[in-house]
Amino acid sequence: MTRVAVIGTGVIGAMTTWRLALRGAEVLAFDAYGPGHDRGASAGESRIFRTAYKEGAAYVPLLQRAEALWRDLERDAGADLLTLCGGLTIGAPDHPDVAAVRRCAEDAGLDHEVLDSEQARKRFPQHRIDDGEIMVLDPAAGVLRPEPSVQAALRSAEAAGARVLPYHPVTHAAETADGWRITSNDTTFEVDHAIFAPGPWARQLAPLGSLPVEARLITAYWFAARDVTAHQPGSLPIAIRRHPEAGFSCFPALDGAAIKIVPHHLGWPDLDGPDDLPRSSAPEHARAASAAAARLLPGVTPHPIRVSTFAEGFTPDEHALLGPLPGHRRATVMTGFSGHGFKLAPAFGEIGADLALDGATSHDIAALDPTRFPL
Ligand SMILES: Cc1cc2nc3c(=O)[nH]c(=O)nc-3n(C[C@H](O)[C@H](O)[C@H](O)COP(=O)(O)OP(=O)(O)OC[C@H]3O[C@@H](n4cnc5c(N)ncnc54)[C@H](O)[C@@H]3O)c2cc1C
Repeated sequence: MTRVAVIGTGVIGAMTTWRLALRGAEVLAFDAYGPGHDRGASAGESRIFRTAYKEGAAYVPLLQRAEALWRDLERDAGADLLTLCGGLTIGAPDHPDVAAVRRCAEDAGLDHEVLDSEQARKRFPQHRIDDGEIMVLDPAAGVLRPEPSVQAALRSAEAAGARVLPYHPVTHAAETADGWRITSNDTTFEVDHAIFAPGPWARQLAPLGSLPVEARLITAYWFAARDVTAHQPGSLPIAIRRHPEAGFSCFPALDGAAIKIVPHHLGWPDLDGPDDLPRSSAPEHARAASAAAARLLPGVTPHPIRVSTFAEGFTPDEHALLGPLPGHRRATVMTGFSGHGFKLAPAFGEIGADLALDGATSHDIAALDPTRFPL
């Protein structure tokens, strides 16, 4: 039986642990914190799932596989994780992201609808639409629940025999003649294969120190909805809003009170490291988020009632690093998901298990090869 260490159980490591355990591997899954914690990239109440992908039609088969695996996990863990409430991309038709979503839907033959500004205002009055703007509606989009997802994957992994080790920071990982020696809490574990899934902490782990992954800050704001019914998943799809004055992703009120937005137009500031995460947002950032809500979301009180900060690992081209760890044997790296890895996590987990157990995968991951950057 192959013995595999998974280092990091955010959503990527948790899904990989689950898929490895189902394939009969002996898995040890380490994390410095507890399952579903809020210091990395895999927390904050909601995540977008979408299939018409502005990042490119090449992702569509992976997204479709991910959706099937989300449903498998829901069944396996008895959890409600993904609600397909539809997804909107909103903005001028020639905005690069709006055009890219439309192109992806057309190229991949995906069901979608294009609403002109008048149709959009009637159908989704929760968004303020300027003349000439459009909405692209992706029915195969929706909302995921991040913390329960991580916990469900680890619960199912444990049921399949994995050993999950929260509060086990890996302080040393060294390649040996036939595997890896992993040190955590003064104990050493010998394994055949190591999977590194440390999210934004990548550069803090010695074997990954030269990878081009920057820890960056992403801030989420919650705004109280005046008419809660109109802002729940049955009424309000997830949205990606593009506008000359602001840009954000927008999530329906899962808590029955407030919608969430994650501003994109303010950029993702660099962090010295994920451990330097500020507890709240800078006042000018909060002011700009409020201005975006006031301008584009007429149904909310445009002063945030809740703010959360998160760390995420970004690569220079904003696509993940996924493949054999350069310069090492029997090691896989999975990091740098650059603000869009959550929805794909079960498919990435399947790939991580393939790479550890078979040395190859049938999924096309050439574009994510870590060696595309000089190291
Ligand atoms: C606010 C926000 C909004 C986002 N929105 C979306 C969205 O709508 N849709 C979408 O698809 N994606 C979205 N993303 C991106 C997605 O959430 C991330 O790509 C994904 O969660 C990355 O998961 P991860 O497992 O790589 O990292 P993390 O969740 O950060 O997990 C890494 C884990 O490794 C552990 N670790 C690190 N070093 C060690 C060590 N030495 N020893 C032990 N453990 C260690 C950490 O404790 C952590 O638990 C968003 C991200 C953020 C932050």
